[in-house]
Amino acid sequence: MERTLSIIKPDGVSKGLIGEVIGRFEKAGIKIAAMKMLHMTKDEAKGFYAVHKDKPFFDSLTDFMSSGPIVVMVLEGENVIKKNRELMGATNYKEAEPGTIRADFATDIEKNVVHGSDAPETARTEIAYFFSELEICD
Ligand code: UDP
Ligand code: MG
Repeated sequence: MERTLSIIKPDGVSKGLIGEVIGRFEKAGIKIAAMKMLHMTKDEAKGFYAVHKDKPFFDSLTDFMSSGPIVVMVLEGENVIKKNRELMGATNYKEAEPGTIRADFATDIEKNVVHGSDAPETARTEIAYFFSELEICD
């Protein structure tokens, strides 16, 4: 069993896509092991995306991620890191496979509806950024 962190970003929440995104996870047989809604401060967004701190898009990305509420989830299942990335589609929605979340709903390379961890080590640190072990249901 593997775990990954999923975020429905502020654009996904404001467009009313919470149910749509969660429905896609459930239909794919992915278990939701933890979930909450919160509104990050700019500093919290900078901490979450610290790996991108030297990128040209960092300031705009952290403004966007702190611009409204998000839904953060721990997803659980076999191979769930890769499965979630497949359901999400490529970072740039113009390159995302048809039928993926980003191909269907993203409007911008930045405003691309969802986040998903990209590897086991990042999944561990990203989950711990938002959830204590007590908040995750086994
Ligand atoms: N991003 C952006 N411009 C870029 C690349 C990325 O605004 O040229 C944003 C986008 O919201 C993306 C996030 O930064 O989801 C993190 O980038 P990453 O390369 O980690 O993409 P992801 O793992 O989300 O597909
Ligand atoms: Mg990434």
